[in-house]
Amino acid sequence: MSGIEGKVIAITGASSGIGESAARLLARRGARVVLGARRTDRLEALARAINAEGGSARFRKLDVTSLEDMEAFIGYARTEFGRVDVIINNAGVMPLSKLEVRKVDEWNRMIDVNIRGVLHGIAAGLPVMKQQGRGQFINLSSIGGHAVSPTAAVYCATKFAVMAISEGLRQEVGGDIRVTVISPGVTESELAESITDPLAAQGMKDFRRISIPADAIARSIAYAVEQPDDVDVSEIIVRPTASP
Ligand code: NDP
Repeated sequence: MSGIEGKVIAITGASSGIGESAARLLARRGARVVLGARRTDRLEALARAINAEGGSARFRKLDVTSLEDMEAFIGYARTEFGRVDVIINNAGVMPLSKLEVRKVDEWNRMIDVNIRGVLHGIAAGLPVMKQQGRGQFINLSSIGGHAVSPTAAVYCATKFAVMAISEGLRQEVGGDIRVTVISPGVTESELAESITDPLAAQGMKDFRRISIPADAIARSIAYAVEQPDDVDVSEIIVRPTASP
């Protein structure tokens, strides 16, 4: 099955920003979407809106830091729609700060959501895709997965990890299963709201003055999904034209 129409697409972090935009766009293009995140009120409203427009959406509460939760989420997608064609490992947090501030809990949260969350998506989805004989992982890295900036050491480390994990996965499964990394530049979303350090918050405010809408990233995701099965878009970097 190539294209987007009819594909079953599970999206983590679908309650806002890029995940929400991707869900709307892919559903409009005929995908059956399964939405996961912790804020189920948001997911419910989004699923209702998609279904009201003639799309097909389901939702389930998901904390990506729990493998059990992730397996239940993928299992739910399978129960509802019979298969899982694409998993978008999109959930992420970005509480930036300098290392010297020692916000160890926030480092651990980034590691848990941004790295373990992606690994859990792979652990839950890979057996399903192997059994189906096909599938696609789309993992959200960042321009921060290419270069490190002050206050972003741990966040960037998690996004470098997403790059490494995705490349390793691609090499292991190539042939049956596609692996795509999406690396956005500054994009409108709620991501910077997780910053608690005042210095980093101010820095991000300045840095995020020039941004692109989340729909721009959704379109790049749709591009990777709609390619024929024998075409694997390995990475797309999308950033504001005006960024350095
Ligand atoms: P948002 O903050 O708008 O969205 C993040 C999503 O992740 C939310 O839906 C949130 O849902 C979910 N999430 C956070 N923690 C968990 C968890 N433990 N379990 C399940 N879901 C969770 O930010 P973006 O849309 O911008 O972020 C999407 C991805 O894009 C992230 O991986 C981010 O790192 C990446 N990215 C974003 C850029 C940007 O400038 N916006 C630039 C580069 C990369 P909930 O709180 O309801 O659980």
